[in-house]
Amino acid sequence: MTARAPVPDDAGARRDQIAHGLDQVHERMAGAAAAAGRDPGELTLVVVTKTYPPSDVALLASLGVQDVGENRDQEAAPKHEACAALGLRWHFIGQLQSNKARSIAGYVDLVHSVDRPSLVRALAAAAARRDRVLDCLVQASLDGDPRRGGVPIPDLPALAEAVAASEHLQLRGVMAVAPQGTDPLRAFAVLPDLLETVREHAPQANVISAGMSEDLEAAVTSGATHLRVGSAILGPRRTLR
Ligand SMILES: *Cc1c(COP(=O)(O)O)cnc(C)c1O
Repeated sequence: MTARAPVPDDAGARRDQIAHGLDQVHERMAGAAAAAGRDPGELTLVVVTKTYPPSDVALLASLGVQDVGENRDQEAAPKHEACAALGLRWHFIGQLQSNKARSIAGYVDLVHSVDRPSLVRALAAAAARRDRVLDCLVQASLDGDPRRGGVPIPDLPALAEAVAASEHLQLRGVMAVAPQGTDPLRAFAVLPDLLETVREHAPQANVISAGMSEDLEAAVTSGATHLRVGSAILGPRRTLR
């Protein structure tokens, strides 16, 4: 009897799982785009890798993923370092403390979650120190509940103006999370108007970041350009975030 392989091919099994999840999400995106009469080529999939290890990020990259999202600097900074050679674009999607601005300016390509003037100042200063321009979205609170992050809609124009006024920040658009327990289609309906508001201050802005595993179809229907999808691709997370 010949000896069996000493190590099960776990990496291969995980790769198959992730490939399957990616296929399913790409199919959902294509279906939603077709239903909305939109070109699926307008959609950027940001795979949310929070709580998942660098080895999953590497598998995602090997499967053609170009954009990954993280929501905590403490986790994202070392993960980025481990994965720097993969050439991915890194998106910061979580509530951001001003004292983390310096760290994230070192590795983040697009900050989705700019929600207050003090953070605008911190990010601008951090980007200036690095002699770079940092792409930003303003995060809108669709229900006005500050615990979930985001600027209340009445305060969004002033925040957009502040981002646009900073020479080290580039305002690219708007981001939102659907409030819990509401119909995402109704919640997201305001997003095209919010992008128009942003464009009054930054005419080149063209990003709407909305849609997660549960509600990506509603986001595509509502004009989203960037979808932030985690568990539908990587499986349920162990910790709730
Ligand atoms: C975790 C997270 C996501 C992804 O959520 P899933 O339900 O796993 O797809 C998207 N956006 C934000 C802001 C998140 O924190």
